[in-house]
Amino acid sequence: MSDLRELYQEMILDHGKSPRNLRAIENATASAKGNNPLCGDRVTVYLTLRDNTIEDISFEGAGCAICTASASMMTQVLKGKTEAQAESLFGKFHHLVTDGEVDDDGGLPLGKLEVFQGVREYPIRVKCASLPWHTFRAAMRQQAQAISTE
Ligand code: ZN
Repeated sequence: MSDLRELYQEMILDHGKSPRNLRAIENATASAKGNNPLCGDRVTVYLTLRDNTIEDISFEGAGCAICTASASMMTQVLKGKTEAQAESLFGKFHHLVTDGEVDDDGGLPLGKLEVFQGVREYPIRVKCASLPWHTFRAAMRQQAQAISTE
């Protein structure tokens, strides 16, 4: 547990200071904005979906270190995944930060995202860590809707 806590601190510092995939995607197939008024976090998630696969994903925004680190790590993990895999990871991440439980259903593991288990102890921080994921899902659904109306 203390190892996980140390790793959590390291990851938040690292990704909070030098976020990965912090850019807009020109010609993104979907994007969504998220806002966490409790903390002041704002993020925009951009997606390029092709053949049900996340070909590219990025984010922009201004948030606290936890929100930024969560967005940064999320984009790293989701890139190259299918929509179904991403949906499954969303569910697992949500379960992790709200209940502190790691689902082991044989699907894709959360891997390094498990460091976010620690935020469960700080309810206000759960929203910071979850915001990028909820924003990502809003973008993915918007895309799905756009496709279904064609
Ligand atoms: Zn925050």
